[in-house]
Amino acid sequence: MMNPNTTRSSKKLVTLIPGDGIGPEVSGAARRIIEATGAAIEWDEHEAGANVFKRGLPSGVPADTIASIRKTRVVLKGPLETPVGYGEKSANVTLRKLFETYGNIRPVREMPGVPTPYSGRGVDLVVVRENIEDLYAGIEYLQTPGVAEGLKLISRKGCEKVVRLAFEFARSEGRRRVHCATKANIMKLTEGLMKRTFEEVSKEYPDIEAAHIIIDNCAHQLVKKPEQFDVIVTTNMNGDIISDLSSALIGGLGFAPSANIGNEVAIFEAVHGSAPKYAGKNVINPTALILTSVMMLRHLGEFEAADAIEHAVLVTLEDGKARTGDVAGYERGVSTTAYTDAVISNLGRKPARWPVREHKPILLPHVPERPDLVVPISRKVVGVDVFVESSQNPDQLGPSLEKLAAATPFKLKLISNRGTKVYPPVDAITDCVDHHRCRFILKNGAGSVTDSQLIDLVQRIGSEHGWVHLEKLLEIDGNPGYTRDQGED
Ligand code: NAP
Repeated sequence: MMNPNTTRSSKKLVTLIPGDGIGPEVSGAARRIIEATGAAIEWDEHEAGANVFKRGLPSGVPADTIASIRKTRVVLKGPLETPVGYGEKSANVTLRKLFETYGNIRPVREMPGVPTPYSGRGVDLVVVRENIEDLYAGIEYLQTPGVAEGLKLISRKGCEKVVRLAFEFARSEGRRRVHCATKANIMKLTEGLMKRTFEEVSKEYPDIEAAHIIIDNCAHQLVKKPEQFDVIVTTNMNGDIISDLSSALIGGLGFAPSANIGNEVAIFEAVHGSAPKYAGKNVINPTALILTSVMMLRHLGEFEAADAIEHAVLVTLEDGKARTGDVAGYERGVSTTAYTDAVISNLGRKPARWPVREHKPILLPHVPERPDLVVPISRKVVGVDVFVESSQNPDQLGPSLEKLAAATPFKLKLISNRGTKVYPPVDAITDCVDHHRCRFILKNGAGSVTDSQLIDLVQRIGSEHGWVHLEKLLEIDGNPGYTRDQGED
């Protein structure tokens, strides 16, 4: 049977999405260079992004593009514009989610001839960002007209996949150290899940040094001493921020490639966006997408072509004759086309002082597909948080809720406002909003709450107050599956 990624001419078929703004210029440059290496690649060109939104398709990704990706399993993509509005989702995020590309690999390496405050320090690190979950699941609600909520969803499965990918990636490039960067000290259940998963999985990679770092310190250390980092694995939002920060260390977005890796599909794109102010001017730096193509070629097993392009880019930058406007200043820089020509003319040459790492294929991790990856021995519901919309102050709301719950098995343990305990009264200054978390637990403290008890409680509360949201309080294997509020004992 023919490999779905291989054409009749035994070339590897790649879906090419030129993209918006500067997209056609940078993807055109990458395509010309790949073709100049003679790599066995054939293109299946399709559209996504701005023009598709304009035609009225809110996903920004047409069916024929999705069908092509299903067939080729590999995408080289220019940046896609996201309309700033309420209806449309980012076509980039749609593509990443649709094909379960769970890990985003973003290498950052000092480049020759690109002066930065860090030049000469040998910055060479890779951020591996979880790519599907976290606040980027985009599950948001207005809880009251003035209070919005976004759900930060983190799964053991998502953490395990990206952590294993980070270690496998480290091995494929001969890297020695993986840091896990989280905010587990504050978000103990969500970010904490990433930290705990990292600590468990790292034991299976004794050849690689593993360390946890709190994300804010990681940002600080990245600016202070970036050369201490090798691979950093982190949750989606943290990764989004520190990877952009990291690319600024080596000369900016013009040099930042990335790969969205899934076990079925991989989507290769530069970190930068469509930079509309430069669109069509033939001045933009295409290096980020050229280095992205290098990652794609390695993914396809085209190691020779990948090394040739990486060498040619380093030679071009080392020579310093063809420098784009972001490096040389836009009044002096060469055109995108001239820079691309220079890289093509340098194919076959090796840089004098800038070696390229040896690469082995990444062994993609296989985490069991079953949805219930974590199976506890025991679980029970010990209470419920009822979120109530009310403009009453806590000293009025509290006694009212206590009265309403008097005939139920529940007692009101506390009320909090934006995470701070406000009832029973505490000696604190809290500027309350009209959104209260009202925590009810069983009066006798034993047994498990039933749904009918819970519904009865909510109906009683609803007779006098507007409730907006419920969360069951789970106890799993004897441990609370919920957090305490600030000020809660
Ligand atoms: P952007 O397009 O990345 O551009 C921001 C700035 O980064 C540019 O003005 C330019 O800086 C610099 N830059 C970007 N690409 C460069 C390159 N190849 N060479 C040299 N410099 C480069 O970010 P944005 O303006 O915030 O976003 C524009 C659109 O792109 C938005 O619609 C956004 O949603 C979308 N976007 C798409 C992706 C994606 O497709 N993956 C990613 C990010 C953003 P100077 O102004 O300093 O010269």
